[in-house]
Amino acid sequence: MGELQAWFRTDADCLDYLAWLRWPAGFACADCGHDGAWRRGDGRVRCSGCGNRTSVTAGTIFDRTRTPLTVWFTACWLFATGKDGISALSLKRTLEIGSYQTAWATLHRLRSVLVRPGRDRLTGVVEVDETYIGGDEPGLAGGRARGKKVLTGIAVEVRESTGLGRCRMLPLADASAETLHLFVTNHVEPSATVITDGWQGYSGLEKLGYVHDRRSQRAARARGEDPGELLLAVHRVASLAKRWLLGTHQGSVEPAHLASYLNEFVFRLNRRGSRRRGMVFYRVLELAVAHDPVRYQDLVATQRPRAVPPTPPQARGHPPSLERPPANRPWRTEAQN
Ligand SMILES: [Zn+2]
Repeated sequence: MGELQAWFRTDADCLDYLAWLRWPAGFACADCGHDGAWRRGDGRVRCSGCGNRTSVTAGTIFDRTRTPLTVWFTACWLFATGKDGISALSLKRTLEIGSYQTAWATLHRLRSVLVRPGRDRLTGVVEVDETYIGGDEPGLAGGRARGKKVLTGIAVEVRESTGLGRCRMLPLADASAETLHLFVTNHVEPSATVITDGWQGYSGLEKLGYVHDRRSQRAARARGEDPGELLLAVHRVASLAKRWLLGTHQGSVEPAHLASYLNEFVFRLNRRGSRRRGMVFYRVLELAVAHDPVRYQDLVATQRPRAVPPTPPQARGHPPSLERPPANRPWRTEAQN
């Protein structure tokens, strides 16, 4: 945190870092390919070849943002380096962001950059299962809570030495063979060994090029074994995900947004061994400048953010910059100086 504050004291510092992330080999014009440009302090860039104007943040998730970059960077730092991330309510309180919607949208924009297009599929030995996730509300017995659960596909690499390997989680429309086969082919490399339970929806994986290790729960029970132990890796991931949703987000995740929370969970799980949290921060920002703008309308298209305490009128608008001038020892009065 100290290093973050030292490096990114002003919004201009943040802008310079984004420019470096976006053009690591220096500016290159998207129109004419020219590699020289005039850069202004406010992030605007003018190609010295064709005169085309652009900006450091144009075409990234920071495009036309009215949230100061110092706020973005601090939010990203809390998001990336916290072991379990941060909820919108905590972010709003920590950064004194006036509106819950702004905090909520900031975190959702960060979440939306986490899935790299064309990422590798899982390899080796992979457990695949589907389970219901979300909708858990402590103190609510069944009924209302049950209706909000979402069927979720889980695929986890099983490694002899280290236990859990990489993981993928995605809401599924249903548990039909068509849906499950698509889930497997999208996320698991052919020739991998796929371990599933005895559900008929998984029949036919051999024909798709997988080695299918089918473990019947009924057969396990007949042998006197615990059927819950057949797919240890996916069950562990599912319970970690449920605990994370209940812990960090108090279980208050709308079904329409579950996919994006699962992306965040998987991103964290896949990087849990990373001791250098600063690298995770770097990685998120690197993905953010490579990601198209995400409009607020797109975030809420399916569902409004959950009801929150009404915002007092004077607290509306956009968060103030966290930019700080060099300290001038405010505890000393003029006379003492
Ligand atoms: Zn140009």
